[in-house]
Amino acid sequence: MYYAVISDVHANREALDAVLRDIEKREITDIYFLGDAVGYGPEPNECISLLKEACHDLLAGNHDWGACGLTDISFFNPHARAAIEWTREALIPDHTEFLRSLPAIAVYRNQDITCAHATPYEPEQWHYLLSHADAELNFRHCDTRLCFIGHSHQPFIMEQLPSGELLTYHEKAPLHPERRYIINAGSVGQPRDRDPRSSYTVIDGKKVEIVRVSYDIESTQKKMSTAGLPYSLIERLSHGM
Ligand code: ZN
Repeated sequence: MYYAVISDVHANREALDAVLRDIEKREITDIYFLGDAVGYGPEPNECISLLKEACHDLLAGNHDWGACGLTDISFFNPHARAAIEWTREALIPDHTEFLRSLPAIAVYRNQDITCAHATPYEPEQWHYLLSHADAELNFRHCDTRLCFIGHSHQPFIMEQLPSGELLTYHEKAPLHPERRYIINAGSVGQPRDRDPRSSYTVIDGKKVEIVRVSYDIESTQKKMSTAGLPYSLIERLSHGM
């Protein structure tokens, strides 16, 4: 049991390259992707190709389904919507079809893990899991020991003790055989926890770790600006929020 979980790439090629290099250095070959390959960033086709090649299994996020017409984007904020409309034009037809084929949740019984873009509870409604109350609800709707999520772009490890008590970690945690875990892998391409470095997760049999990786933010920002993507989306990459 040695694998990586990555999420929310959002068409940021520089960030994805940096994370895949870091994973390769650790000699990890098993990579799970939790969705949102596209949206916000300037290189959706390149990122889909890289993810297809590198990952064991892929899920869709709300931006992926928005870009291929499976999710109504009228509820997106105006900048996210503008980026999705740009993405729809940029995607090659094969990639649009590919995004349409991806599910929002998958359960891997042999590894005892659930992967969902948003939450195991109503995965296609794109709920956020932020509080202990949200976590309790989702532990009840998940029957594996480990559950990986993305979507909020805010990494954390939530541990449920046999008593039901919940503990939260932000960097790493030992994996206890009698406890259960919901782990938010954070975002590769648009972190929102005030740390602009890419975030992803590494798991071995004994522990889970949230890894941060620096990437060439300015290069992504230049490409976004050339593509005419909204200024606020370009600017937020510098601040990680
Ligand atoms: Zn996202």
